[in-house]
Amino acid sequence: MRARGVIVAIDGPAGAGKSTLSRRVADKLGYTLVDTGALYRAVALWARRRGIAWDDGAALGAMTATLGFAFVDGALEVDGERPGDALRTSETSTGASRVSAHPEVRAALLGVQRDLGRDGGVVLEGRDIGTVVYPDAEVKVFLVATDEERARRRLAELLARGEASTFEGVLEEIRARDKRDEERAVAPLRMAKGAVRLDTTGRSLDSLVEELAAIVARAATH
Ligand code: C5P
Repeated sequence: MRARGVIVAIDGPAGAGKSTLSRRVADKLGYTLVDTGALYRAVALWARRRGIAWDDGAALGAMTATLGFAFVDGALEVDGERPGDALRTSETSTGASRVSAHPEVRAALLGVQRDLGRDGGVVLEGRDIGTVVYPDAEVKVFLVATDEERARRRLAELLARGEASTFEGVLEEIRARDKRDEERAVAPLRMAKGAVRLDTTGRSLDSLVEELAAIVARAATH
C-alpha cells in the first residue's frame, strides 16, 4: 500500500470520457487528479510560443526538461503560469498529439508523471498510464466510446467555449489523433494488461462514477 492510497490509471482515446470521470472519481475519493494530456498540450503550446517546430523532437525534449510542471487544485501550472483554456483549443490538441510522438518528449515527461503519482491517492488519466507510466497501478481502466459519441462530446466542449467547430470537423480531428496515438512507435495507445474495459457510450456519468469508485474501493482493501 502506498502512503496516500492506491494509484488509479485511466487511459483511452480522445473523448472517451476520461477527464470528466476522472475528476468526479477523484473528488469522491479525495484523491489528487493528474491530467497527463495537459502536460503534452503545454509542451505544444510552449513550443509554439518559443518558435520550436512540433516535429523537432530534440529541441522539444530539451525545452520540456527545463519546464517546471505542477498541478494546483487540478489545474496545470507551467513555471508558475496557468495556461487554462489555451490548452484546450483544437490547434493545441493536434500539437499535443504531434509532440507526444517524440521519444525525447515522452522521456522528459515520464519522470514528471511518476513524481506526481508516487505517494498514491491519485487518479492519473492519459494514454499510457497503465502501460508505461504506472504498469503496477492497483487500478487500471481503459475507457472507450463510439467515434460519433466521442465527437459529439468534444464538439459540445468546443462550442461551449465559443470555438467555431462542426461535427464532421471534430470527428475527423479525433480520428486523426487516435490514429497517431495508436500507431506511434513509443508508448502507443493500448489497453494495459489487467485493465478493466469500460464503454461509456450511452452511460450516465453517475453510474460510471459509482462503478469506478467501487473498483477502487475493492483494490484499496486488498
Ligand atoms: O487527453 P488529451 O486529449 O488532453 O491528450 C492530448 C494528446 O496528448 C493526446 O492526443 C495524446 O497524443 C497525448 N497524450 C499522450 N500520453 C498521455 C496523455 C496524452 O500521448 N499520457
